[in-house]
Amino acid sequence: MKPEHLEEFRTLLTEEKRRLLEKAAHTIENEIELSKDDMADDVDLASALADQNLSLRLRGRERSLMDKIDLALERIDNEEFGECVVCGDDIALKRLRARPVTTMCISCKEEQERREQMYSD
Ligand SMILES: [Zn+2]
Repeated sequence: MKPEHLEEFRTLLTEEKRRLLEKAAHTIENEIELSKDDMADDVDLASALADQNLSLRLRGRERSLMDKIDLALERIDNEEFGECVVCGDDIALKRLRARPVTTMCISCKEEQERREQMYSD
């Protein structure tokens, strides 16, 4: 993949990550707001937000999306981004732009989905 495309996706993924972290921060804010009445001690939002493990506060879907974003950013660093992890072919840019965390080309993805359907019944 061309360096300018790698940078394009790095920007996309970094923005997505920031949105997720903001969501996590917002969740903490709400939790603190809710628990304020019950707590004798002042809860310091700033220190809660400074928590290095902010992303650990994400749950379920968001948590797994965050893992995928981190993986995609790692693959950009290793210049592996945009290669299908199954067949090694380039993944179409259009597909990557729609879903930057994808790690499979469309034909491998379809093949995987077919297999999943076969065993899901
Ligand atoms: Zn493939």
